Amino acid sequence: MEDILNQISKVKRDKLGTDIPILIFRVLRHYTHVYASDLLGERASNILFINAGKALGDQLGERLYDEDLKRYLEKISEFVEREKIGILKVTELNDNKLVVQLDECITCAGMDNIGKRICFFEVGLVAGLVEKYLGKKVIAYETKCNANGEETCEVTVNF
Ligand SMILES: [Zn+2]
Repeated sequence: MEDILNQISKVKRDKLGTDIPILIFRVLRHYTHVYASDLLGERASNILFINAGKALGDQLGERLYDEDLKRYLEKISEFVEREKIGILKVTELNDNKLVVQLDECITCAGMDNIGKRICFFEVGLVAGLVEKYLGKKVIAYETKCNANGEETCEVTVNF
């Protein structure tokens, strides 16, 4: 997995640089989900995106690791905002639960209400980051989503 992230991190686009319009990201993100759902079923397609998010979370967690959990979460928020994934805020943290809100979510901010939560990549990313910190598996799920008419995205992680 580390190899993949290393390979795709190398970008040579002297004129165009590293940024792309969000629509291009969303075309890849949403159409891949639709076609993977057709081929494999919706649940498998969701897991595919969760696992991609987890792979990034795992790598990123290694890079941003800090013994101090608060500091670790701050570094994550900085990364998430800098890379324009969204604006991440911790809304609840205790011994067995973390809740983060992701405003301006890269996947769904501004979408019409389609009656379901769709940000599986983001759920996986948060789960991967937490798993890296704790050194154990966690259960994570999306508890709010713009695509479900809830005005923001929210990920809840149970340790
Ligand atoms: Zn969402």
